[in-house]
Amino acid sequence: MKIRNPRTGQFDYDLTTDSVEQVAAKAASLRLAQSDWRSKAFHDRIAIIVQLAEQMEAHQESLIEQLSIDTGRKHLSAVEFHAGLGLIRGRCASATHIMKEPETRASLSNPTVNIKQQWVPYDLVGVISPWNFPLLLCLIDAIPALIAGSAVLLKPSEVTPRFMDILEQCIYNVPELNKVATLVRGGAEVGRSVVDQVDVICFTGSVRTGHIIAKRTAERFIPAFLELGGKDPAIVMEDADLDVAVAAIMRSGFGASGQACQSLERVYVHHAVYDPFIEKLTAKAQDVSTNHDYSKGGNLGPLIFAGQSATIESQLKDAIAKGALIKSGGQIENHQGGLWLKPTIVTQVTHEMEIMTEETFGPVIGVMSYETIQEAIRLANDSIYGLSASVFSKDTAKAVEVAKSINAGGISINDGSLTNQVFDAEKNSFGKSGLYGSRMGADGLLRFFRKKAILIQTAAPVSIDTQAELA
Ligand code: NAD
Repeated sequence: MKIRNPRTGQFDYDLTTDSVEQVAAKAASLRLAQSDWRSKAFHDRIAIIVQLAEQMEAHQESLIEQLSIDTGRKHLSAVEFHAGLGLIRGRCASATHIMKEPETRASLSNPTVNIKQQWVPYDLVGVISPWNFPLLLCLIDAIPALIAGSAVLLKPSEVTPRFMDILEQCIYNVPELNKVATLVRGGAEVGRSVVDQVDVICFTGSVRTGHIIAKRTAERFIPAFLELGGKDPAIVMEDADLDVAVAAIMRSGFGASGQACQSLERVYVHHAVYDPFIEKLTAKAQDVSTNHDYSKGGNLGPLIFAGQSATIESQLKDAIAKGALIKSGGQIENHQGGLWLKPTIVTQVTHEMEIMTEETFGPVIGVMSYETIQEAIRLANDSIYGLSASVFSKDTAKAVEVAKSINAGGISINDGSLTNQVFDAEKNSFGKSGLYGSRMGADGLLRFFRKKAILIQTAAPVSIDTQAELA
C-alpha cells in the first residue's frame, strides 16, 4: 500500500501488508504461547509488560519522529508518546488492586455451598485501532488484555503505519512479550482477518466499521467491545464563567484539529450569554494559526486523513446551503499538498444540518442558543451518538443535575474532554458511540476475563429419593 504523508500529501511510504494466511499463522503462534503467559504469576506478567515502557523510552526519539510523520504533528506526538507510557505504567500499577480473584465464600442463596471464582482470560484478543492517536489507541486495550493473561493481535490503522516498525522493535526486545503480542499491517481486509481469528475484538473507529464488525462478531459468536464516534455537545448555562467555557471549548473542540472522538462539536448557549460567548470564542479562534510552515510557528496541525477533509467540506457546504453562517475558518487550505483548516465556528445552525447531527472529526463547532435548560438537554440528546459531553455553570451542583440528564458516557463539568485524561472512571457509551463494557476503570481490565463459578457443596448432597418426594 502507498501511504500518504499528511503534511505534504505525497504518497511517500510503502506499507507491506499481511496476507490472510499470515494473519492466521500469527494468530496460531499467539495461541500457542498464551497458555504459558496466562499461567505466569500475575506480578511476573506485570514485570514483563513494564519492560515495554522501558523499551519505548529507549526508542523515544524514533518513535515520536515516526508518529510525527504519521500524524503531521510534533508536539502532540510527544504528548501521545508520554500518554502511552503513563497508560502502561498506570494500568500495571492499578491492576494490582483490581485483579484479585475473590476469596472463597459461602453462598447467600444456599449457605451450604461455597463459591470459588476463577477468572479465565480470553485466549486471543484482537485490537483494531484508528489513525487519530495511532500509538495510544493501539495500546489502550492491548495492555489490560495482556495484564489479564490474554495474547493480543494488533492491527493499527493503515493511514498512520510508520510508528509500527519502532513499536514492533520495542516488543521484540522484550522476548516474553514478543511471544504474546504481535502486530499485523493492512487495511479493511486485514482487519476482517483479525476479526476472524480472535476470541474477542476491541475495536476503536467509526460507527460504519463498528456495524460491520458487530455483524461479523455476532456470526462468529464472539464479543466485540466497540469504541466509536461521537458528536459531543456542550451546554453553557446562564451563570457559566464564559472565559472558562471558551478556554475549555477551544481546547476540546479545536485541539488535535478536532480529530479526537471526544471533541466538542456542538455548543448550546443560554440566550442571555449567547452574544458575549460568540464574541469571545470567535476572537480566540481567530488567534489560532495553522502550523503548515514550522519555521513560522502556528499551533494547529493538518487534517491527517484526506478522506476526512472531504466529509468536513461537504458538511460545511450543506450547512451554508441551509442558512448557516461561518464566523471563523471554514475554508480548507492546501499548503504544499497538506490540508489544514483553521478553527471553524458556525452559527445559525439547526438540527436539519449534518454539521449538528453527523460526526465532523475536524476543527468545527456549531453553536446554537437556547431559552430553557430543558430545551438545551433535549437538543444535546437529539443525537444518534452518546460518547461524552460538557456542562458549564458556576453552580456545580446544578451542572451535575443537568449532566445526569444527558445521554452520554462521560460528562465533564466546567471543562471539556476530561475522559481523555482520566482513565480510572468507568463509563459506557450511549447510542451508537459504542457497545459493551467500559474501557476505563476496573472494568477496563476485568472485561477480559470470563468469570467461572466453582460451587463446592459442604453438606450431604440431597438424595434422589428426597428430590423425588419434593417433585
Ligand atoms: P475506521 O472505522 O475507518 O477504521 C478504524 C480501523 O478499522 C482501521 O484500523 C481500519 O483499517 C479498520 N477497518 C476498516 N474496515 C474494517 C473492516 N471491515 N473490518 C475490520 N477492520 C476494518 O475509523 P478511522 O477513520 O480510522 O477513525 C476515526 C473514527 O474513530 C472516528 O469515528 C472517531 O470518532 C473514532 N474514534 C473513537 C474513539 C473512542 O474511543 N470512542 C477514539 C478514537 C477514534
